Amino acid sequence: MRDFLREIEERKRAGLYRSRRQVSGPQQPSLTVEGQPLLSFCSNDYLGLANAPEAREALARALEHAGLGGASSHLICGHHEAHHRLEGQLAAFTRRSSALLFSTGYMANLGVISALAGRGDTIFSDRLNHASIIDGCILSRARVRRYAHGDVSALEVQLAQTPGHKLVVTDGVFSMDGDVAPLRALARVCQRHDALLMVDDAHGLGVLGPQGRGSVLAAGLSEQDVPVLVGTLGKAAGGSGAFVAGPEWLTEYLVQKARTYVYTTAMPPALAVAIGANLEAVVQGDDLRSHLAGLVRRFREGASALGYTLMPSQTPIQPILVGDNDTALALSRALEARGILVTAIRPPTVPAGEARLRVTLSAAHQAAQVDRLLDALAECRSGLPCSGVRSWA
Ligand SMILES: *Cc1c(COP(=O)(O)O)cnc(C)c1O
Repeated sequence: MRDFLREIEERKRAGLYRSRRQVSGPQQPSLTVEGQPLLSFCSNDYLGLANAPEAREALARALEHAGLGGASSHLICGHHEAHHRLEGQLAAFTRRSSALLFSTGYMANLGVISALAGRGDTIFSDRLNHASIIDGCILSRARVRRYAHGDVSALEVQLAQTPGHKLVVTDGVFSMDGDVAPLRALARVCQRHDALLMVDDAHGLGVLGPQGRGSVLAAGLSEQDVPVLVGTLGKAAGGSGAFVAGPEWLTEYLVQKARTYVYTTAMPPALAVAIGANLEAVVQGDDLRSHLAGLVRRFREGASALGYTLMPSQTPIQPILVGDNDTALALSRALEARGILVTAIRPPTVPAGEARLRVTLSAAHQAAQVDRLLDALAECRSGLPCSGVRSWA
């Protein structure tokens, strides 16, 4: 048998070991982690809706009449009116013809990509796309060509060389970098080369665009420009689950073909009701978004002034580039000793040599809390050993 324990030990030696810690109480900036109070800057709850009173009340009420369990898949007897209503809300929210719920974003990407491309087809995927997109590409058995991050010219060369059915897939906002894909240019080259464009807007929905309708609408693109839109409900929407939105043919086709839709239990119907309540809050959330944008500016100005290396991101994802795995872990621990939780992100989640602290900001943070983070970063800046550390100074 393979020596699994040895592999675990090797991971520890390489600074790549991953561990989990228990949180108690609801998700919010002031977290209790294994009994210790920590100020968290690592959640994707960008609008602070993960514990919204309206959603909690909606959930409690819905439990009374819709119950807890999804009981079966949508195609057997699990398709509840609560799901159907949420799909209508999501289609309207993204200004698309229809939407289809999935249990998670991971499953949506697996199901959608493997349904829309197969043997003999070609998928073009940005190098920094989310792991669930990479896995969906593998599952599809299509040929996969990765293109340099955000490089539309390189993509166009590849498209021009490729006959047959072509699917181009990209994150809307890149999850570990925070930058936005060049969506208008991508839509143009896809049109020119008859390629189907799919955008995974897990981190754009709720945050970017008019009323938080996402990066695609922020770029002024329609359903014709971007026919396949994936969104998740566990980030700014504050719940869990995901959806695909697009033309009627798309959702109809996915109901027939997406195996992660067909062969899985429907989400708890009461959860669909609660997420519907949060969607209202997202649409009404311009004040939350402008507060959040202010926090992003405050953090960027403060951290740059301290000499930290930030990335070209205007979104609430604000990574501090560190480089080396052990240094990223050391900085994360030094912050934690000061009561602040920011997790270190290491390979394979990011490329080797680009370990970072992924700071995320939320409308639930107060300016004073961002200042606490900056104060802690100021202390750690001088306290850390600098020898042998790449791109740290
Ligand atoms: C988080 C994320 C997913 C996965 O969504 P889950 O609902 O958490 O499974 C997919 N794509 C991107 C870009 C993400 O950031």
